[in-house]
Amino acid sequence: MVKGTPSMGQRQKRTHMRCRRCGSTSFNISTKQCVACGFGRSAKLRDYKWVRKCNLNGG
Ligand SMILES: [Zn+2]
Repeated sequence: MVKGTPSMGQRQKRTHMRCRRCGSTSFNISTKQCVACGFGRSAKLRDYKWVRKCNLNGG
């Protein structure tokens, strides 16, 4: 197995399709869950404090 640019030609499988809630291509087809917003997993948007860049108090 190679990791470089030649191996990119084998990446033809679709694991994610476009999420109809957040619009990013993060909706997993097999698990029916969006890894970006949590669509299919929870009714609320996937949100973690370690994702947000909060610089209000100097970081
Ligand atoms: Zn989503």
